[in-house]
Amino acid sequence: MYLVLLGPPGAGKGTQAAILARKQKLAHISTGDMLRDAVKDGSDLGLKARQYMDRGELVPDDVVVGITRERLQAPDARRGFVLDGFPRTAAQAEKLDEILVDLDMQLQMIVNLEVPERELIRRLTGRRVCPKCAKSYHLVFNPPRSLGICDECGNDLVQRDDDKESTVRQRLEVYHKQTEPLVQYYSESGLLFTIDGIGSVQQVNERLEDLLE
Ligand code: ADP
Ligand code: ADP
Ligand code: ZN
Repeated sequence: MYLVLLGPPGAGKGTQAAILARKQKLAHISTGDMLRDAVKDGSDLGLKARQYMDRGELVPDDVVVGITRERLQAPDARRGFVLDGFPRTAAQAEKLDEILVDLDMQLQMIVNLEVPERELIRRLTGRRVCPKCAKSYHLVFNPPRSLGICDECGNDLVQRDDDKESTVRQRLEVYHKQTEPLVQYYSESGLLFTIDGIGSVQQVNERLEDLLE
């Protein structure tokens, strides 16, 4: 199964992708996580990406397409993947089509998670993440078992720098300008399905699994 999760920042893509990946044995491919890893490593790519990420802008297409292309070639991705946070621009969507043709893989579905803006801001500003395993939590809506500690690996949770309210607003604007047009792009392919992203993590997961069946 080859899937794309589409939706604004904070819609729950990462949360749902992680659950799907675990249950359906898919590779969870998050460009945001890959870019944050590159920033942590201090590689040239990370240094370049960071300038954009800190401002809430998109990292240039060539950089993101390059790392995604490489990741999609790994054996676990061939067995099935869920793409989280890619594509985010029309150019990326076109490149993805080309890459998949080259690799002889075909997308089964693009799922668009729909969540209203007010809720996105609440989700993003209350998000806390594990810097070690990348699992994300929410202070109120999706708290860890013990305050400030990752359930999976016991690491201290942190707030992402770009989850401060001013950067969140910038990211939402960037979404409307550059990513939202992909909804139109994919609806023409006949593979796009939209689901309501409001409700508990589990409710949204059930909607997603019903759709996949
Ligand atoms: P995205 O990857 O789309 O940016 P995340 O999966 O990181 O979104 O979720 C954003 C924030 O919202 C996180 O704090 C997460 O714990 C929380 N969250 C995810 N799904 C839900 C939900 N169904 N209801 C409430 N909060 C949620
Ligand atoms: P969110 O969970 O809020 O949707 P991500 O973790 O996916 O955010 O992405 C964080 C940042 O990484 C983005 O604001 C952007 O700077 C960069 N990024 C992630 N994916 C892409 C992409 N496909 N194209 C360009 N930049 C990206
Ligand atoms: Zn962790």
